[in-house]
Parts: sequence; structure tokens; C-alpha cells
Amino acid sequence: MKVIETVAILRSVLDSQRSGGASVGFVPTMGYLHAGHVSLIEASVSANDLTVVSIFVNPLQFAVGEDLGSYPVDIAGDQRACEAAGADLVFLPSVEEMYPPDRSTTVTVGGVSEPLEGESRPTHFAGVATAVAKLFSIVGPCRAYFGAKDWQQLAVVRRMTADLSLPVEVVDCPIVREPDGLALSSRNTHLSAEERSQATVLHRSLLAGAALVEAGETNPAKVEEEITRVVATAALATLDYAAAVPADTLVADGALHGEVRLLVAVRFGRCRLIDNHGCRSLIP
Ligand code: AMP
Repeated sequence: MKVIETVAILRSVLDSQRSGGASVGFVPTMGYLHAGHVSLIEASVSANDLTVVSIFVNPLQFAVGEDLGSYPVDIAGDQRACEAAGADLVFLPSVEEMYPPDRSTTVTVGGVSEPLEGESRPTHFAGVATAVAKLFSIVGPCRAYFGAKDWQQLAVVRRMTADLSLPVEVVDCPIVREPDGLALSSRNTHLSAEERSQATVLHRSLLAGAALVEAGETNPAKVEEEITRVVATAALATLDYAAAVPADTLVADGALHGEVRLLVAVRFGRCRLIDNHGCRSLIP
């Protein structure tokens, strides 16, 4: 496995591999890799001739006062995890390599960026889209692997990729969870023991909401009330939002129908966790 730090070298290695007929799989990450990230790398390795993993804590997607400064980092551990999962290349750019000081372009995606995370973190998705567009441009034609853990991010990346006709096939991978249901996240490391044990409430609240939908509840407000009720049973949890929305647009359009996505954001002290779960309404 090779570690590459510059745009020019990564481009030339991937271009030459592709000209020899190799297919490229790409897994963008912010590092501190866990089994969720590893599942994306393994999905890429199994479907492509060459897999590149990027590790870049993207400052643009953190607002002032968010956890950029305390975001966990373990470059050596990440490289071991990439190698063990079968990655061929790790792209490890500096902030300056990604964002030269005179950079003045931002990619903003309308529509699906705006609700939920877009309301709670108004600059977040422009930061994500700017980094992902740049990474897609550097990596070139590929399959790119994203986790359903960040459901809205996946929708934003799909929208951007289609709107900009980027030569990338976006592949989504299922959420990897701890045995007790907590979705794996680099941020879980910031939870105290007590917060960690209460953090299972995110998944439990989503399952309770899904049970209502699957029993025939079509009023999104009732499903959101149920998710909110379950989250409130965890004394240390503060709900940011609970949503029951169409899985593709993420914007309510009357009674629940078809594929529904339930999404929650919950704070435990300084740590903000998100999770989501898919279910199907009895109304087509
Ligand atoms: P991050 O490093 O948090 O930016 O995540 C990089 C990628 O890993 C994103 O596509 C995430 O959706 C995905 N990911 C993070 N956690 C999980 C998880 N628990 N299961 C599946 N994918 C995940």
C-alpha cells in the first residue's frame, strides 16, 4: 500500500492505472477509521481493481465553535486499517494541498442540503460538497463509496454528482452498528461511559418510529413524537431534531408513503450524534 500526499502524484498514478484498464474505487473519509469505514473499503476492494482511501479532516465542513479542533486523529492506526482491508493507495493531503490560500470556489447544493442537518449546521454541506467535488475531480472516473450512516450527505453527494455530470458512480453501504445498536462513529470516542450507555437511545428511538410506520401510521408528526418520546427517556440526551420524511427528498409532503427515512440528531454534552433508519409506509 502506498501513501500519497499530493494531488499531482495521485492523479498521475490513477490515470496510468486506468489507462491500463484498471477500475478505481474511492472511499473518502475523515480518518479515525472504524469498522464502518472498513466496510466501505472492503466493498470497494471487492468490486474494483484499485482502491484509494482519502483521509482528510475537512475544515470547511466544521463551523466556528464545532469540533474541528478536537476531531480524533490516528494516522498510523488508519494506515494499518487501510492496509488490512486491502486498500492500494491512501491519499493524505494537507489542508494547503486541498485548499491553496487563494482558493475562492465553493460548491453549494440546493434542495436536499437545506432541511435537517442543513438547518442545524447551515455551512456544513457546502463544506462537504466542496471537498467531495474536489476529491472527485482529483480521483477521476471511479466508483465512490459512502455510508448510509450519513443519509443526507449521501443524498447531497448524489445530487451534486448528477448535477455536475461527474464521472463517478456513487455506491451506498449499510450502517455498521455496535452490538447494542449504536452506529459506529469517530465521535463516539468523546462520549463518557454514562453517555455511551445512553447513546443507544438513537437507534431505539428510530426502531420505535419504524414500528409505528410499519403498523400503518402515516402522520409524520406522530412518528416524530414517538422518536422524541423515546429520546427523552435518556436523561443526558438533548434532541436536536427527529424527522420522518420521504427517503429521497427528505422534505415532508403530506402523509407518509413509499420509502420513508427516519432521522435523528441528539446531543450528549459537547458530542452531537446522528443516526437514521429506513422503513416502508403501508401506503405505496
Ligand atoms: P467520516 O470519516 O465520518 O467522514 O465518514 C466517512 C464515510 O464513512 C462516510 O461515507 C460515512 O457515511 C461512512 N461511515 C461512517 N460511519 C459509518 C457507519 N457506522 N457505517 C457505515 N458507514 C459509515
